[in-house]
Amino acid sequence: MNTKITSIDAGVRRRKATLQSKLQDVLEFSGDRETLEIQPTADPLDQVRSSTDRDMAVETLNHQARSIQEIRSAMARIEERSYGYCERCEEPIPAKRLDAVPWARMCVKCQSATEAEACQGGAESHSAA
Ligand SMILES: [Zn+2]
Repeated sequence: MNTKITSIDAGVRRRKATLQSKLQDVLEFSGDRETLEIQPTADPLDQVRSSTDRDMAVETLNHQARSIQEIRSAMARIEERSYGYCERCEEPIPAKRLDAVPWARMCVKCQSATEAEACQGGAESHSAA
């Protein structure tokens, strides 16, 4: 069942390798955080510090979880052969962008439009010619 991916071009294959090593990095890093966190605390000062640490760790883990999700869904799109196309306008995403952000789901234009919508909750009348 794995032979359906025959016409993946070299660029996509290279990006898939990049995604896999990136995923590995994120997973290894989160492993490190966890071992750092499991430390018995006796000192109350230590407890304060460790709760701040924990907050930061939670933040980092959230960020990592999102990265992992992005990377995994990019890999799924490679399998589905929908990788490299903008989710919004369905145009091919420029290779330069995919080199910089291999898990990009949208072209720069749509990405910034989406971010603007998310931030402002609606498009402002911006001088977009
Ligand atoms: Zn687009």
